[in-house]
Amino acid sequence: MIQTLLIANRGEIACRIARTAGAMGIRTVAVYSEADAGALHVESCDAAVPIGPAPASDSYLRAEVIVEAARASGADAVHPGYGFLSENADFAAACGEAGIVFVGPPVSAIQAMGSKAEAKALMEKAGVQLVPGYHGLEQGLATLAAAAEKTGYPILLKASAGGGGRGMRVVRAPADLEPAIASAKRESVAAFGDDRLLVEKYLSRPRHVEVQVFADGYGNVVHLFERDCSVQRRHQKVLEEAPAPDLDPAIRAALGEAAVAAARAIGYVGAGTVEFILDATGFYFMEMNTRLQVEHPVTELITGIDLVEWQLRVAGGEALPLVQDQIVETGHAFEARLYAEDPVDFRPQTGRISHLRFPAQPVRVDTGVRQGDTVTIHYDPMIAKLIVHGRDRAEALGRLSKALAETEVAGLVTNQPFLARLAAHPSFKAAKVHTGFIEEHAAALIPEPQSPSSQLLALAALAILCHRADLTSKRAPASATASGDPYSPWHAVSGWRLNEAAVQTLILEQGEGRHVVSLRPEGAGYRMITPEAGLLVQGARDDKDRLRAVIGGAAITARLAFDGATVTLFLPEGPSTLSWIDPLGAAGELDDVGGRLTAPMPGKIISVQVKDGDVVTRGAPLVVLEAMKMEHTIAAPGDGRVAKVHYQVGDLVEEGADLLEFEPSDES
Ligand code: ADP
Ligand code: ADP
Ligand code: MG
Repeated sequence: MIQTLLIANRGEIACRIARTAGAMGIRTVAVYSEADAGALHVESCDAAVPIGPAPASDSYLRAEVIVEAARASGADAVHPGYGFLSENADFAAACGEAGIVFVGPPVSAIQAMGSKAEAKALMEKAGVQLVPGYHGLEQGLATLAAAAEKTGYPILLKASAGGGGRGMRVVRAPADLEPAIASAKRESVAAFGDDRLLVEKYLSRPRHVEVQVFADGYGNVVHLFERDCSVQRRHQKVLEEAPAPDLDPAIRAALGEAAVAAARAIGYVGAGTVEFILDATGFYFMEMNTRLQVEHPVTELITGIDLVEWQLRVAGGEALPLVQDQIVETGHAFEARLYAEDPVDFRPQTGRISHLRFPAQPVRVDTGVRQGDTVTIHYDPMIAKLIVHGRDRAEALGRLSKALAETEVAGLVTNQPFLARLAAHPSFKAAKVHTGFIEEHAAALIPEPQSPSSQLLALAALAILCHRADLTSKRAPASATASGDPYSPWHAVSGWRLNEAAVQTLILEQGEGRHVVSLRPEGAGYRMITPEAGLLVQGARDDKDRLRAVIGGAAITARLAFDGATVTLFLPEGPSTLSWIDPLGAAGELDDVGGRLTAPMPGKIISVQVKDGDVVTRGAPLVVLEAMKMEHTIAAPGDGRVAKVHYQVGDLVEEGADLLEFEPSDES
């Protein structure tokens, strides 16, 4: 039995391992880079050891440092998670030499499957079908060209040492082969320090179906059914499910047997995944991942088995808790990977998660971040995995759609709307999955970005006005009480104005687009004057940060998240983020003369939202000036500190008057 477990990873998988280990009464030790000192995985463990600077090569990939951390913290076992050192045979060996249990297969099994070429040679011997192609040692151009010719175009070049979809090139004609080999080798050397390539027949519209296997140290090997991971971009998975839909029962049984045979052939111990590619002609071995896989939770939900618990038990010397016949599946499960990623080109995004809210039951959320955390360039940009179960595929898919619709992330761009469209796509509902699914349905899944509708602009403007009113009312009563005339209409927080109702103008920005929105109070709401006349906008924010509005007669409810001068509206059709700036530009610009913020025009101070010494973030409203029947908000030009406020509510100011002194913080 393991007493203390060091988790040699970060993010959601480190948190997930800590959860099970903790429940088993095992003491957990986290490791963390300088970028992760305050990370959730550190908080999730009983102890934590710093292992170096942010880049993974200086921290999470330093085998000696991690083994030393394990020794120093009294750990008797190390769980590598996935990625990082999880498939590094030298690391597993170093753990063994230090007398620490590596929670994973024997070093020999990692080595056997570490190279796709050698793994194929082994599997061929074990009688497992391979994709037609070449996986020999000889790597000359003539040899590879002849192999490609014999295999028949299109072919797929793969880095033998590859992973994560890198080092792969589809080659459709002989003329393209030479440059593709050169670039695949370059990428492979850079990523894996090895330039060996293999050639495979490139199957058209295949499915990726993989089998979860488990083995113990007593010769017992079982499988825990399969997962379909066909929905991929850049040869990487985004949405997975178990069991694989519409699979012929005979093929299904044969897949399980082939996977068990593969594990037996290399004396496997622990959790592993045998990946197959499947088309109308049959199924073929692709590779074996000798670790826990990202998408393991879908298997957990259909079998009720905690795979990490099994890993820890097997590593502690126990036999498998169940034999094959005792492993049963119920219902259907999906996992969607929520990434900080631009859905248009799938490029990773970085930034601060200013708002994060996950739905409650019936969804399992595996995450390694909290609101306020930052997604950096250093690590995988996955924010969370949303995992659902249902009695059948339709029920599970309905739950996935609901969970996606109720998830709220602001501060950075994510693939959430993309995942929602995927889950709702008729062909996905019909289980017509294949690895080219996203390309085939790109038009529906990745629509052209649209400029915001008048309804959205109106909703955003209303949200901002409510937000400003809330900010004002938080301070106005205090200033009214302090003024000696608490009943003066000048201190009213209701938006009461002398003379005619004031027009409020906002400039809203979304991406490159700028939209001027003017609203005139009317009845209990506003009438939007621009860009389209006549839209009547009414509504209010409730205490749950929800805006309940009626816009042009249509009732709309949206959840809101504010971050400085940015608002994100969570709507049924997906989140929309807009920033607002003040019409005269005074909000964004500091005067040349030091840190003064000046009045853009003569007017009256109707609200002062800060006091001397307040620390504010960029875009925070500081002072509201009323002039020419319009409100003008003077906002913080950057993050910083308000050194001195020179006016109070009710004061009349001249154009250019020094309103307040502002000290920008160093970074801004
Ligand atoms: P899977 O088939 O389980 O998705 P891959 O072979 O694609 O696995 O890659 C392993 C996983 O390890 C990736 O999906 C990724 O989430 C994770 N990973 C890889 N590199 C890193 C890294 N530098 N930081 C964190 N996670 C990583
Ligand atoms: P990695 O180590 O990067 O996970 P894999 O060999 O598992 O590499 O392949 C990753 C993905 O590439 C597969 O899931 C599949 O979508 C695609 N792929 C791999 N081999 C083929 C092939 N022969 N034909 C078509 N697609 C393939
Ligand atoms: Mg793979």
